[in-house]
Amino acid sequence: MLPDYFEFSLPTRVIYGIGVINSLHDAVAHYGPRRALLVTDAVLVQTGLVERVKAGFARTAIDIVAVYDQVPPNSTIRTVEDCAALGRAQHCDLIIGLGGGSVLDTAKVANILMVKGGSVAEHMGAYLLGQTRLLPLFLIPTTAGTGSEVTKVAVIADPDHDVKLPFAETQFLPDLAILDPELTRSLPPKLTAMTGMDALTHAIEAYVDKEWSPASDGLALQAIRLIRDYLLRACAQPNDVQARGAMLAASCLAGIAFSHSMVGMVHGISHALGGVYHIPHGLANALVLPEVMDYNLDSRLDRYADIAEALGVAFPRPGAALENLLRYSPLRFAAPLARPLAGLDRWFRRKAAQASIAYVRRLNQQLAHVTGMSLNLRDAGIQDGLDKLDQVVETAMADGAMLYNPREPEREAVRRIVQTLYATTVKPLPTSAADLRPAVATTQVQELRDVFPDTETFYRVMGGFFERLKIDPQIGGPLRDSQLCVQFQYAQPTAVLTIDARGEEVQIYQGAAFTGEPEVTMSMNADFAHAFWHGRVNLVSALTRRQVTAKGNVPKTLRLLPILKPAYALYPQYLAEVGMADKVMR
Ligand code: NAD
Repeated sequence: MLPDYFEFSLPTRVIYGIGVINSLHDAVAHYGPRRALLVTDAVLVQTGLVERVKAGFARTAIDIVAVYDQVPPNSTIRTVEDCAALGRAQHCDLIIGLGGGSVLDTAKVANILMVKGGSVAEHMGAYLLGQTRLLPLFLIPTTAGTGSEVTKVAVIADPDHDVKLPFAETQFLPDLAILDPELTRSLPPKLTAMTGMDALTHAIEAYVDKEWSPASDGLALQAIRLIRDYLLRACAQPNDVQARGAMLAASCLAGIAFSHSMVGMVHGISHALGGVYHIPHGLANALVLPEVMDYNLDSRLDRYADIAEALGVAFPRPGAALENLLRYSPLRFAAPLARPLAGLDRWFRRKAAQASIAYVRRLNQQLAHVTGMSLNLRDAGIQDGLDKLDQVVETAMADGAMLYNPREPEREAVRRIVQTLYATTVKPLPTSAADLRPAVATTQVQELRDVFPDTETFYRVMGGFFERLKIDPQIGGPLRDSQLCVQFQYAQPTAVLTIDARGEEVQIYQGAAFTGEPEVTMSMNADFAHAFWHGRVNLVSALTRRQVTAKGNVPKTLRLLPILKPAYALYPQYLAEVGMADKVMR
């Protein structure tokens, strides 16, 4: 059964890719020349990520004229106001947020102040902006957890009142979200664990809460599957860029899911623990999640059973299995005999739902073993004997997220959960190699930059290679038979090579020497061409990523397919012959 009403839209363009930060030109071209404010934090300056991102934008028309790098974890009202003041003073007309949720949320709320002025408190609330247009916003997450790069919410701390203030505006959805797994590699294992559990909480709460919808269901379950396979691995092997990428994608999917379905009681309690005791958001979620799942279990039994399946905890359904077996066999008349087993299926569903909770508890313990993540609120930093318990309970009960919880949150339940998490003595649990689920071996493409220092070198190598293709016994014939005229236009360094196979002889032209009309033109970076002739790139995905743009009768280039395999073999040999063995890709 579907809900009575749901909406779904994602105006944000999301681009994902390992190293995509180095090829933003196309993605940002239509914003034209801009004066950008980069919002980030001091740690990201130290790790060198800020420089990398600046270098990425240096190849575009977007000029980063101001950097605000003072965002603390759990950003504050003051931070947002200072950040906006800098942006206004520098007349910035575009904002780039680079960081975890604290930075991205700061960029979102600072955007309101830069356009509308006033104080943070004046803009607190939901959907107050009406039709006001804010400045273009690009968000680049460096943690894989909050999904803030695709959500219409922001959370800013008010330290004077020990609360975290919620903001919700459609205009918070950025114009562009840039997901580059390389930018999360420096995230320490403990933060990887905590932020990853934040993403899992988003997915689970989106799937069970009152505002679920079919679209957010699909995204939430896929996020859960990715987190199941990659969170422990990203923590244990921080440089595993595939695991990092999967977590970044999961966090983004979970963000889209919860931005449509909202979150629930886990977040209500976590926001209170963050506001009153400054417990990091992801850690608070990690600890509270299984307790709230337990509280909600009976109100969403089937949904928790689905979550167990997404987590890989499979329970049999003997009734359904037998019924199918009989129905789709010559014995179909006997299918009703399987019906009594339906009760057994329901029993297994309940066991599966309970297993989803056990899974999350176990995952927390494994994360604690791998990363040192805390497993109770004492270790998480509460050292006053939980003196402010009443304040935590009251703050949680007043949190907007509570409205969406599938079961009415009771004050006593909140109190009990916080007390349990304070007193628990649960211990870390060692992980096995199987828990890290090493994926099927993936071929990692070694990235080479600036292979050709100048146009002259490029013509010597690539032009020479094309001449070699012409006379190669395996390649020359099919190349001539293609009867194709294709022009390759290169950037970094600039060069043009044209292959004209329309006459008796194949001709290769450099630069402006070709004066005719090619049937197809293909534009790309010289480094891309280098990877291409190694057979290391997927041309279809390169076209989607606009790493290659093709014009003209593109299908005709399929005639070149027979030459590719032998050409891939020839190119590294040729590089060695011309003294560029060091540029051969491993
Ligand atoms: P964070 O942004 O507070 O960052 C935590 C720490 O990690 C910081 O010290 C930061 O410098 C460091 N860090 C970030 N990226 C790093 C990297 N690549 N390498 C090394 N260090 C790195 O943590 P968070 O969990 O991403 O964000 C939490 C905030 O986001 C909270 O305020 C929370 O309320 C908010 N939040 C917002 C949304 C939303 O949709 N807007 C959703 C969930 C949470």
